[in-house]
Amino acid sequence: TDNYIATPDRTKQILKKYGLSMKKSLGQNFLVEPSILTEMLEAGKIDKNTVVIEIGPGIGALTECLAQAAKKVVAFEIDRRLERILKKELAAYDNIEFIFQDILQVDLEAVFAEHFEPTDRIVVAANLPYYITTPIIMNFIEANLPVDAYVMMMQKEVAERMTASPSSKDYGSLTIAIDYYTEAEIAFIVPRTVFIPQPNVDSAVLYLKRRETPKVSVDDEVFYFKLTRGSFQQRRKTLWNNLMAMFGKADEIKEVLRNALEVTHIEPSRRAETLSIEEFANLANELNKYSI
Ligand code: SAM
Repeated sequence: TDNYIATPDRTKQILKKYGLSMKKSLGQNFLVEPSILTEMLEAGKIDKNTVVIEIGPGIGALTECLAQAAKKVVAFEIDRRLERILKKELAAYDNIEFIFQDILQVDLEAVFAEHFEPTDRIVVAANLPYYITTPIIMNFIEANLPVDAYVMMMQKEVAERMTASPSSKDYGSLTIAIDYYTEAEIAFIVPRTVFIPQPNVDSAVLYLKRRETPKVSVDDEVFYFKLTRGSFQQRRKTLWNNLMAMFGKADEIKEVLRNALEVTHIEPSRRAETLSIEEFANLANELNKYSI
């Protein structure tokens, strides 16, 4: 692993050789510690039966390890300046395909149809650009693609919010959305010292296993997520106050809300952060019976 791209010497040498200045606006912090990559491969159970979608290869730190461990890698990078670097430094691998495109603009279904076989085990791997962690993950998991799992490095605080338990300060509508589609766990914590340049936050690697069916059964997903987001609008207020802010204070509305809470055995004076995902699902399904 001495000569891996993910070492301080080699990374500095590549930056110098190509005269590359890193763009903070694109979240460019490159990994320079190969042992972290080995741990990521293990966390994602990446082997020669796995095909990988990588988001943001940068100068190829993770890509190199993925190409060695996996059957094939399809990597999406927004920064075109990296094209010649990646193609040259990773020329030894014939199982990598680079696509220079914004991952948020990619037609994921078309990519899957073009690049993968129905029998492939598909894993999405990334050391994510931190400024768009949540949209990238939500785009993938909401699309209901045949992905087996995600192994994603992100800011530690975001990973904690995605995996929080009810009644903790980190639990919120993001936790609920992630838990709906995946089983998520923090695989390991990554100190800020293993990047060039060093960011001012620590990171964590999250392992998300896609659920075959969502965790709870809801009649209307759009309404369910509207309800969960709205319930946390003012975290410190009661569920009742947030529901009134969301749906209105008219007497008929209050009546519907009061009934729905009673039927689902949820005290109006509770705060949203104490509700389980099942309770939110029950409440959403009950409210769905009325045109509210
Ligand atoms: N994988 C490399 C590593 O581990 O050293 C680089 C990780 S760096 C944190 C994030 C990478 O994502 C950068 O290379 C950046 O250019 C790229 N990126 C940022 N926004 C992107 C987007 N919308 N679509 C694709 N790649 C993006």
